[in-house]
Amino acid sequence: MILEKKAKPVLHRQKCPGCGYYTFYRAEPTGEKATDTCTACGHQVEIAWHADIKAIFNNSEKLFRDLEAVCPELKELQKPGDRVRFD
Ligand SMILES: [Zn+2]
Repeated sequence: MILEKKAKPVLHRQKCPGCGYYTFYRAEPTGEKATDTCTACGHQVEIAWHADIKAIFNNSEKLFRDLEAVCPELKELQKPGDRVRFD
């Protein structure tokens, strides 16, 4: 598998360690790294950008769909900036 030279930003859902919400993160690839930014609070982390990263995002998307069965609130995560929290 060959890395795309100009990879596009990828939106993916995850729990943010910055604000504690389940929200969208936007991964902006720059070479072998990507800046992953919380669309709710702006928290940033650097992640390694590699050929398998999309498979990882797809896997976590599957996890989120499974979680939706238990936590229907997660379905409210539709676009960047949306956030959901469970306490
Ligand atoms: Zn956040």
